[in-house]
Parts: sequence; structure tokens; C-alpha cells
Amino acid sequence: MSEMNKETQLLVIGGGPGGYPAALHAADHGIKPILVDEGAKMGGVCTNRGCIPSKALLHLAKLINEAKEAEEWGVSFGLPKFDLAKMQAFVQHKVVGKLTGGIGMLCKGRGVEVISGTRATFIDANTVKLEGTTTGTIKFQNAIIATGSVPAMPTAFALGDPRIMDSTGALLLPDIPKRMLIIGGGYIGLEIGTVYAALGTKIVVVEFTDGLLATADRDLVKPLETRLRKNFEAIHLNTKVASLKPTNKGILATLEGKDVQGEEMFDRVLVSVGRRPNSANMNLDKAGVHVTDRGYIPVDMQRRTNVPHIFALGDVAEEPGLAHKATAEAKVAVETILGEPSAFEPRAIPAVVFTDPEIAWAGLTEREAAEKSIRFEKMSFPWAASGRATTLARNDGLTKLLIDPGTQRILGMGIVGIGAGEMIAEGVLAIEMGAVARDVADSIHPHPTLSETIMESAEMALGGATHVAKPKKVAK
Ligand code: NAD
Repeated sequence: MSEMNKETQLLVIGGGPGGYPAALHAADHGIKPILVDEGAKMGGVCTNRGCIPSKALLHLAKLINEAKEAEEWGVSFGLPKFDLAKMQAFVQHKVVGKLTGGIGMLCKGRGVEVISGTRATFIDANTVKLEGTTTGTIKFQNAIIATGSVPAMPTAFALGDPRIMDSTGALLLPDIPKRMLIIGGGYIGLEIGTVYAALGTKIVVVEFTDGLLATADRDLVKPLETRLRKNFEAIHLNTKVASLKPTNKGILATLEGKDVQGEEMFDRVLVSVGRRPNSANMNLDKAGVHVTDRGYIPVDMQRRTNVPHIFALGDVAEEPGLAHKATAEAKVAVETILGEPSAFEPRAIPAVVFTDPEIAWAGLTEREAAEKSIRFEKMSFPWAASGRATTLARNDGLTKLLIDPGTQRILGMGIVGIGAGEMIAEGVLAIEMGAVARDVADSIHPHPTLSETIMESAEMALGGATHVAKPKKVAK
């Protein structure tokens, strides 16, 4: 343990994808920031127990599924054998450890002073108290709060039984359960369900509302739901889990829904019903920083809180809780501290669900257009007509563009299909640059790639796509 009392121009609280890029960006521009994180390793939830370990496991799931499917095409590998300890070592050391170590080295090499294993709480609007591996105080001219979010665990499910897990527990891959209940059919439930289903677990998803992935357009969810219903034991919509009861044989769940009623036994349960902002127990009131009833810290376009020299960004500031949104906000906050004109006003924040198939969207969605009465024309290109999708035996995809009927500007893009997450950046660029359909249609896309589906969707807006007989132009 060490004791310190320091002063800094910029204190960053939280070393996740909002905090560490903020500290690095500041250091690159002449500020000597101090970065405090209560975790032992840099990278926050995303790198340690979120985006990164889940994607490493999803990569393994993809290999397992492809190897199984290859039998149909004349290549057999036999049944997979799982070495759980080796899989855990791959995820935790080769992937997570490598990246968190890398972030630590970047900070060291670029002049960011990192204080890890230490919690910062506000004493007043210019001072925090340190508790943990390091104790003492830091006086700051500016602060950035980037403390992220934590999994929501309703009290009815918080029974202290390790078999009832949140995403953190599930990503540690404690064992391969025979049957697992997933409460919540959102990003986390479906991604982690995909991993465990590939390992052989029977997955039952219980979703409270009438559809999976509430914020995604229904035409994108449909191909995913079709495949998930084949790979999972069951998906129960409009259903709630009335209670969970730990027993010697497993966790007894009482399900109440239209197509399922009564008690069912599971080896493990994943609770993935959302996340909540990490703003509690920081004494924000002592700094005079406002917090909403739901725990979010309200911010302006520069990511300033109501206290002008204290900024907040990432999951703790406002939705959507996505790592890349936090990183983009970090630049804006630091530019503002540097006295540069800057604002966070993206036209498109991409969203990617890393299931199989993946779903990705950017800009306007049909759901949002309906809510705000925005007129658009929809161009949908089915992957049945894609040469590349056919070579991969994955025609279960769709690429769509939402276009302004007057100006032909691209307002939104949505993709469902393998690799959708890698392709959506083209939509982000088109939307941010104010591209019209012809810009995308006339940009030569390489053949044979899935990206051609974007070009052909744009061609549809001009009256005809090469591989679609009757272009469908749906005006709304
Ligand atoms: P989510 O909001 O995506 O989904 C939660 C789901 O649980 C909703 O569909 C909701 O209707 C349902 N639900 C809520 N209470 C319920 C109950 N009692 N019984 C049954 N269903 C219930 O939340 P999540 O999946 O926990 O993920 C949290 C956040 O983390 C996401 O919103 C996203 O911002 C982020 N995330 C992003 C990625 C990614 O970018 N790929 C991956 C994982 C998580």
C-alpha cells in the first residue's frame, strides 16, 4: 500500500474504453493526467469481463459450429473435445491478459500515471479521496468520470447461489452446464447463449417482452431468431420468471408465460436483464454533480456535467451503453478541456450483436422512424442473391438501406448475416459523410464479398440491382 497527495490538471476515474482513451488523448496533447481505477488491470468491463472475453468465446463457438456444418459439405472432424482449463486460459491470458497488459504499457509509455486497485470518491468539487492499494487525495482542475456500468441483478434473483450468474460469472466458463436458463433476450443473453449452445448446453431463453433484442428492427431479428430456435431448446417470449429456488439438483425456476407455465429445473441460470450505471458510492453529491433517478449523470454536448470542470462519459453518462460510444465521447471531453471547439453529435452510433448470424445497424432504424414520423424508402437486398454468401453456405442474411425519399441521402443501414459487424462501418461513414445512394452504388465493391450487398441495396434505390429481379422499393 502507498500513500500519496497529488495535484493534477486532469483526473480520469475509470480505465475502460471511455477512461483510458481519454487519458491517452490528453497525454498526447501535453496534459499529464492521472488515471484511477478500482480494478487491478486496465481496460474496464469491456476488456476484462465484457466485449473482449465474450468475443473470444464466440470465436470458439463459430469454429465448433462451422466444423459441425462442414459435414454437409463433405468434411468431417468428428465430435469436438473440450479442455475447459485450456479454453479459460486462452480467453483470460492470451486474449484478456494480452490486451489489458497492452493498455497498461500504452499508458506508461505515453505519460499517463495509472493508480490501479484504488477507488476514488469525491470530497468536494476539486478533490477525491483514494482508498485501496493507494491511499491519500488528489486535487484536480478537471475530472472525467468514466466509471461504466454493472449488471442489473433484480433482488428476487440475487440469492447468493453461484449457479445464478451474471455475465461476469458466465464468461469465466465455470463448467458446461447440461441445461441453462437465460433470463432476458437482449445482447448479453443471446451472445452468451450462443457460446454455451455451441458447447452443448440446452439453452432456454425467457424474455419478458414480445420480441428479442427490443431496439433492433424486426426484419433483422427474424433470421437470427429462426436460427436460434433451431440451436436453443426454447425461446419463451411474453414470459416471466416468477421465482428461482436453489435445490441440490439445480435451480428450480417457476416460469409464467403464454406457452410455458410451471416449474423447470436448470443447472445454471444467467440473469441478463440489462445493466445499470455505476454512479453510486462515489459521493457525487459532495462535488455537486447531478444524477438522475436511474443513476445516469446528465451531460451536455461537450460531456460536461452540471459542474463545468467535471465531465462524464460512457455507460455512466447516458445510453446506449456501447464501448465505441464512450471512446468517441472521450475525445470530445478532452478536446473541450484543451479549449478546442468540440461536440458529441454523431449521426450514427453503430450497434452490433455478435450472435450467429450477427445483427448490425447504424443511423435511422425503422423503429425510430415510426416513433418520430420520419419518411424513408427501404431497400432490402436478400443474401439469397449474394454469391459470397452462397460460397459460405450462409444465405440467411439481409442488407437494407433506409433512404431519404427526397434527397436520396442514406439515413440508416441494417445488416443481419455473418460478418455484419465488420461491414456496418461503411454505413456509418456513408451516413456521417451525407452520402446519397448513388455514391454507394457507384463505389466499386470487391467481388465476391458480402460488402457487395451494400452496393446492390444502393443500386435498388436507383431503379435496379444486378442480382435482384424485381427491385423492391418500399416507401414509408
Ligand atoms: P438488454 O437491455 O440488451 O436486454 C435485456 C432484456 O431483458 C430485454 O429484452 C428486457 O425486456 C429483458 N428483461 C428485463 N427484465 C426481465 C425479466 N425480469 N424477465 C425476462 N426478461 C427481462 O440488456 P443486456 O443483454 O443485459 O445487455 C446490457 C447492455 O450491455 C446492452 O444494452 C448493451 O448496451 C451492452 N452490451 C452490448 C453488447 C454489444 O455491443 N455487442 C454486448 C453485450 C452487452
